[in-house]
Amino acid sequence: MQSFESLEEFLKGQLPATLELLRQMVGINSWTLNPAGVNRLGHFTAEQFAPLGFAAEFVPPTNLEFGNHLVLTRPGKSSRSIALVSHLDTVFPPEEEVRNDFRWQVEGDRIYGPGTQDIKGGTAMMWLVLHALRSQAPKVFEDVTWKLFFNSAEEMFSPDFRQVCRARCDAQTLAALVFEAEGRLTDERLMVVARKGRASWRVTVSGRGAHAGGKHSQGANAIVQLSQILTRIAALTDYARDLTFNVGIVAGGAGLNRVPHEAVAEGEFRAFTPEIFKQAKAALLALAGPGDVRSPADGFRCDVKVEILSENLPWPRNDASDRLYSFWKQAGDDLKIPVNLQERGGLSDGNLIWDAMPTLDGLGPWGDNDHCSERSADGTKVPEYVEISGFVPKAKLNTLAILKLVEARAAVS
Ligand SMILES: [Zn+2]
Repeated sequence: MQSFESLEEFLKGQLPATLELLRQMVGINSWTLNPAGVNRLGHFTAEQFAPLGFAAEFVPPTNLEFGNHLVLTRPGKSSRSIALVSHLDTVFPPEEEVRNDFRWQVEGDRIYGPGTQDIKGGTAMMWLVLHALRSQAPKVFEDVTWKLFFNSAEEMFSPDFRQVCRARCDAQTLAALVFEAEGRLTDERLMVVARKGRASWRVTVSGRGAHAGGKHSQGANAIVQLSQILTRIAALTDYARDLTFNVGIVAGGAGLNRVPHEAVAEGEFRAFTPEIFKQAKAALLALAGPGDVRSPADGFRCDVKVEILSENLPWPRNDASDRLYSFWKQAGDDLKIPVNLQERGGLSDGNLIWDAMPTLDGLGPWGDNDHCSERSADGTKVPEYVEISGFVPKAKLNTLAILKLVEARAAVS
């Protein structure tokens, strides 16, 4: 690389173009269940990376309610590759954006708008870093094969994206770098080296209905049974082991004069390690079977059914991610930017790929209030935003760390 000063200068010069790119991306509604919008953003993104030499491939999702995944590839002179990962979708339906007047708004050092932080700001960061590499380290830029992966439905969990990434990477893939937002602790920039796994579940209780007046004792009350089960599920939460269970939705009953014959609840659980995740799942499934609530008349029992609806396994702390992190730490030391690591509770595409190639997350810019669109006059509700002044330092850090990573691997091979 030429010098830190020249890198900084270059990045500052590119910032207006980066923010203009972000503005245009934020202007395209790409709610996960708006596949036309997601596809429009996919084509727009492909056009923006084309001048850097990237060819586009649109990959149809398994779930046809979603838009196409996007893969952009730039073949390098060597077979060594680096994967950069982002997603196209956001959590905001178009009506919600209109209702809350949630759109691109620049105020001071903040830009508000759907996806500014999660994750269009990350895609803009990716674009900026690749420009910096081309300009400041052209040999490395030309040498490495760059593979950019954009999930069309990250916010609704699309397990097929796992294969989209894995099928296009190999042992020569040095790293998968995920551009979800940066963490911050005072002035420390936090890189993500692990994420919790998450499973969603449904409990269905079948009891026996009865007239609440004349035949009350014939009934086996499904709601009463479900409430007992939910108390036991809630008690499985164990903060000391970073295991959380959340009961999210509950429904049951059809009238006040009927002993309810059915009740249903749904929720999720999360854990950092595969062992605790597995134990949690077993404890949940063990609640299935004949219940404690019976009809006083003849002992008819409620029946409890437990289903796992979806499962996204943990990305646990591991050596490959830690080693990758060390390049960001070194780059931070060189640039006098405090860098640290974190294990994060939320999921990302890192959960799908960490065991196939060394994975690091949190390369995006810093912002806050992701998944929020409401704003109140008294300032107690603030929508999603990204911080403008965070782009250049973070891009500097990412660029230098990627160069260190390539250099270290060149020394080995
Ligand atoms: Zn999100």
